[in-house]
Amino acid sequence: THFILATCRSGYESDLAAEMVAKATELGVYGYVQTTKGTGSVHYHCTSENDLNKLSRQLRIDDVVFARQMFTHLVTIDPLPASQRVEAVLAALLPHADALPKPLGQVLVEHPDTDSGHEVAKFCRKFAVPLRQALRKAKLLSAKETSSQSRLHIFMPSFEQLFIGVSTAAQSHPQNNGIRRLKFPSAAPSRSTLKLEEAILELLTESQRQQLFREGARAVDLGACPGGWTYQLVSRGMHVEAVDNGAMAESLMATGQVSYFAADGFKYKPEYGRAQLLVCDMIERPDRVAALMQKWLQVGYTDAAIFNLKLPMKKRYETVAELLKQLTVALASQYSIVCKQLYHNRDEVTVAIMPKA
Ligand code: SAM
Repeated sequence: THFILATCRSGYESDLAAEMVAKATELGVYGYVQTTKGTGSVHYHCTSENDLNKLSRQLRIDDVVFARQMFTHLVTIDPLPASQRVEAVLAALLPHADALPKPLGQVLVEHPDTDSGHEVAKFCRKFAVPLRQALRKAKLLSAKETSSQSRLHIFMPSFEQLFIGVSTAAQSHPQNNGIRRLKFPSAAPSRSTLKLEEAILELLTESQRQQLFREGARAVDLGACPGGWTYQLVSRGMHVEAVDNGAMAESLMATGQVSYFAADGFKYKPEYGRAQLLVCDMIERPDRVAALMQKWLQVGYTDAAIFNLKLPMKKRYETVAELLKQLTVALASQYSIVCKQLYHNRDEVTVAIMPKA
């Protein structure tokens, strides 16, 4: 039977599986999950073709916290021949040509984020080039790449097997493997800077970014040291109240855009009674952090919040679902809430809560 294939951080397969079952059930779709720990991927099988179509149309990548990439399976090549693989993909695809969305705007050749996946990574990058040409020649792919149309996915768990599938623009991530590659800014004081940068680019819309990042706007950074997150905010023109008992990077203090407070993040209040943005990367129990963020938004200490929830070792999906439910009940009438496990997240997820326009 056909299925939805979704990928995740290695080790999070059961969390993604639990989430997909929950989200499908909410949509009135029934099925079962097939996955193996450490494979970085999950197959959600539907009981009917109707349900599969419904899930393909209605389950959006932005709504699945633990999914990096997602598409609807069409055909499997197993075993994959050792040569003439472009021809093999076309031969497998042609009987399904009628079922392909038209136009296809992109083809992504992908692999799981696992050891075996990394072995095929280089091949995937190279293979995309002749494959794209062949698909264009067969009039299956639009002449110009576009991320607003449906996508064709070629997913290779290894050199032995290949899954072909399709996705709508909302169902999948426009980048290979659902990963936005970012370059570490050499002036940033810590690697964590990439977590906030990825969150800003992945979780906010362009208009939210424009609204938020204005010259002279104020942010509070709870658990700021050594300053990777503060660096992102300073470089977008904000003034940052950095709260932590540790030491901030001198280079950041020298910008004149940072005020440092050696205080407990759970007790701190914004200097002028309010800020435009609250960010928080304190290593603390996720329920305590979520409650603190909710309080800041509800009493009007901040207009918006971006924060990490560190996950416990077990029942990670259940923990996230429970906290998101609480935040939704309390805030959803006035705020939009998005949550994803980002590429730069480890055992954590990132939440962005933005005021509704
Ligand atoms: N986001 C930072 C960066 O990009 O450089 C890294 C933050 S680090 C993961 C967590 C920080 O939270 C530590 O510096 C720690 O001192 C701070 N922290 C933990 N509990 C805190 C609390 N109750 N109040 C203030 N800071 C706290």
